[in-house]
Amino acid sequence: MIKQLLFKGFSASLLFWVCYACSDATSKTKTIADTAALHTNNILPAEVKNTIDSNQKVIYLTFDDGPQHGTMAVARLCQQLHIKASFFMVGSHAEQKSDGFKIVDSIKRAYPLLLLANHSYSHAYSKYRYFYQHPQTAFDDFIKNQQLLAVPYKIIRLPGNSAWVTQNRLKASDLVKPVCNLLNNAGYNVTGWDVEWSFNHKTANPVQSADKMTGMIDSAFAKDKVFTKNHLVLLSHDRMFRSPQYLDSLARFIQLLQKNKDYRFETIDHYPQLKPL
Ligand SMILES: [Zn+2]
Repeated sequence: MIKQLLFKGFSASLLFWVCYACSDATSKTKTIADTAALHTNNILPAEVKNTIDSNQKVIYLTFDDGPQHGTMAVARLCQQLHIKASFFMVGSHAEQKSDGFKIVDSIKRAYPLLLLANHSYSHAYSKYRYFYQHPQTAFDDFIKNQQLLAVPYKIIRLPGNSAWVTQNRLKASDLVKPVCNLLNNAGYNVTGWDVEWSFNHKTANPVQSADKMTGMIDSAFAKDKVFTKNHLVLLSHDRMFRSPQYLDSLARFIQLLQKNKDYRFETIDHYPQLKPL
């Protein structure tokens, strides 16, 4: 089944770039129905609804560095499983692939299930320190990508660095704070990540198993090791899932999470407290 999801038109060459980043319809319907029933029977107070909502935990699956080998395989899997996900894409990568802009458009057309977001034009040329030490050049790089890919919302992920800029919060290392301030002043949001599904930097294959990753998600929620309580951003990379073996692993991971009815999936534009999009 997974093999059928693979994008047949992909080049055989593998592109390895260095990068160190809907609710569940059933449970949502049930929650609303339960709440309505309680109202009808006059036993509900508003606090009950708050109690129900407080159990909800939102997972934002994010895939970085596309378009590349693996992007469409991941996109088709998400479509098959009806799972929301966000793709942080790189303009120079789109230019390097013959079908790069076609892939970008495929993601854009799949909204609201899938969302395109901005991961810079150059991916910092993989020279992160130099890139961030020149904040105006870095800022211009993000704006170039926003325009080149016609990214729909002002949502950015920094290459190689987990920083956050939302309506009222800014969390960034000294290295990236200058560019974060420029992006903030221009009305952009920056989203980092809470948990990463790591990859082997020689093979680009996932390091952790699906079961291990599910445990990491459960633990991060339980220990509140997230930027915003009850909201968890997972970082992974499209290229990790380019082969059927590892796409199966991603499918298992998603299906394990779906068993927990407290969990639902959203695209990153639904993250709390973003500036107006
Ligand atoms: Zn990246």
